[in-house]
Amino acid sequence: MSLTNEQRQIIHELASNCCEYCRIASDDRLSKFQIDHVIPIKHGGSDDTNNLALACLKCNGFKGPNVAALDPLTGHATKLFNPRRQRWDDHFLLNADTTITGLTPEGRVTVEN
Ligand SMILES: [Zn+2]
Repeated sequence: MSLTNEQRQIIHELASNCCEYCRIASDDRLSKFQIDHVIPIKHGGSDDTNNLALACLKCNGFKGPNVAALDPLTGHATKLFNPRRQRWDDHFLLNADTTITGLTPEGRVTVEN
């Protein structure tokens, strides 16, 4: 798949140039950002902008082709956080030491990944 420059620009704007999973800003020169498929193509996801999210290399690498993982608290299979459908603040807490705590099953599996 290849995305158009226009699609990339839309995603950067929607994401306010921050990783949509860990909220790190993309003007950090150490990190080069990628466009992540929220639902990977192999799981039926599309190149539609509502299936695309901006992700730093770390988050995109951890996430890989996964759409779900086991909640470390309950052991239940849980879908990963979807930045196009869910609000970050509802699912995560940014700690003073810049680590992130998952507040919900979706938040926990996304952080644990
Ligand atoms: Zn990230």
